Amino acid sequence: MHDSLLISPENLPALILLRDVTKHMKRGHLWVFKDCFDSKQKFSSGLVEVQHKGQSIGFGIYQDDTQLSLRLLFLTDNNAYKKNNHQLSFKLWSQHNWKRALSLRSMYPSKETNSYRLINGEGDGFPGLNIDVYGDTAVIKHDHPIMEKVWNHQTLTDWLRRDLPFLKCVYLKRRNHEEEKGENLFGELQAEVQFLENGLTFASNIRDAAKTGFFLDQRDNRYLIKKFAKNRSVLNLFSYTGGFSLFAAAGGARDVTSVDISKPATLAANRNFDVNKMQVPHNAVAEDAFVFVDQMLKDKKKFDLVIADPPSFAPNQKAKPAAIEAYTNVFSKSLKLVANDGIFAASSCSSHITYEEFLEICVNSFSKANKKGRVIYIGAQPTDHPYPLTMTELRYLKFILFEVES
Ligand code: SAH
Repeated sequence: MHDSLLISPENLPALILLRDVTKHMKRGHLWVFKDCFDSKQKFSSGLVEVQHKGQSIGFGIYQDDTQLSLRLLFLTDNNAYKKNNHQLSFKLWSQHNWKRALSLRSMYPSKETNSYRLINGEGDGFPGLNIDVYGDTAVIKHDHPIMEKVWNHQTLTDWLRRDLPFLKCVYLKRRNHEEEKGENLFGELQAEVQFLENGLTFASNIRDAAKTGFFLDQRDNRYLIKKFAKNRSVLNLFSYTGGFSLFAAAGGARDVTSVDISKPATLAANRNFDVNKMQVPHNAVAEDAFVFVDQMLKDKKKFDLVIADPPSFAPNQKAKPAAIEAYTNVFSKSLKLVANDGIFAASSCSSHITYEEFLEICVNSFSKANKKGRVIYIGAQPTDHPYPLTMTELRYLKFILFEVES
């Protein structure tokens, strides 16, 4: 069995830091941008030793094609660091971080929930590496192609099988547009994987699904919707495979409408209703949510509970003003569909929009819709999606539940 999660060559290239950003790194921030390095240094992406003023200060992953150039693994003040022996340092560091990540998830799998994030990138000290568990299947997904050359898949598979002996498959999932969508590292990925979230069963075609197979990060917020759905007619906009819809139905909703632009997603939402033998009437609509909302406004239709969880409208900083406008537009229109004294849930997964900005979007959306809001709950990502305190950009998920007054 291998003993380090990193594929590390004997000799690591030294990346020279021009600006002293050690203070920022010592506070736990793991990202260093291009302008902190000598642009004349030519490197290919991969593991590097970071040096400043002739001293080794730590290790990281260099990405030559992004503004974010360095993702720090650890500094030389880390307990795992052994001078002149980076192989041993990597081994001790990997083992320690892995143990910590597992211990944070020791409540999983439980009788109600066997789907969870085991490794959350920099949040668990493993930049670029995400591992989600869905019942008996673990899915590894990197956020940059270079990570395949950095993280040791054999060791990951060995450690997963050793520590999660119930696993029947370890699958490496690549970006959906890539030719080879993924590969089995152990066992064989099933066409449909079933797993539990707070007592409900979900089915996912992991190979073709978004992310690693499901939006695990909304778990707590979906559970909250269950408590507010009783006797309400529910509209779930941007529903994907019906996560919020299922919890609304389980909470006693009168009827549920799920809207997503993707036909396979709406079919999967129907499948999830069937798998749970849910009797609540469910209307799955494959349509652009903006068009659907306009039609409902025209028809003067109202719902008692409306959920709007759009995709990230701001994939980068430049797209932010347009994204703020799009969020305000969709939220204000959705608000007009909420019956008097009804409930509205607004969410955004864009890391470029801060919580303060999100609140401002909500204030403006209510104002535009000519409604008053009462905040019932402010939510975020769940405990299996931790992030370093100083990396607020990784606190990406925002969720607010409102009562709506005309
Ligand atoms: N709330 C979901 C996750 C939503 S992800 C859950 O709990 O699982 C965002 C979804 O928005 C995706 O499924 C995507 O297909 C959908 N989407 C993107 N643009 C859309 C549009 N214009 N109209 C409707 N759905 C859209």
